[in-house]
Amino acid sequence: MAIANCKRCGKIYNRVRRDICPQCIAEEDEAFHLVRTYLRENRDATIEDVVEETGVPMELIISMIQDGRLILRDNPNIFYACEHCGQPTQSGRFCAACSRELSTALQKAGEGLRQRMGGDKTSRGYFSRS
Ligand SMILES: [Zn+2]
Ligand SMILES: [Zn+2]
Repeated sequence: MAIANCKRCGKIYNRVRRDICPQCIAEEDEAFHLVRTYLRENRDATIEDVVEETGVPMELIISMIQDGRLILRDNPNIFYACEHCGQPTQSGRFCAACSRELSTALQKAGEGLRQRMGGDKTSRGYFSRS
């Protein structure tokens, strides 16, 4: 059994699969459906529009996109900053140029670097104690 701090609300919970607690999972699911429905109906919306209309925090919207849950195929005006160079991007953590650059660098540097990159999920100041 693994006990962890919920990455979202900080509550202690019995960690199953996700790094947030069941209540937050339910809230995020609801937020996800709100955002997805809004984007379907408003294809020209910007990310500011989505935040304003759905009340879902921008970070959460971005993390849904980065996780690949929210796909922006039909929403050309939704952008957020690449974590590497700050250029606008529509999927993943990095823009297309940085993804290419990083994956090349990754291949060159080999397994050690790949592990370090993979373990870098706590960059926003959340810590889970196990
Ligand atoms: Zn929580
Ligand atoms: Zn970039």
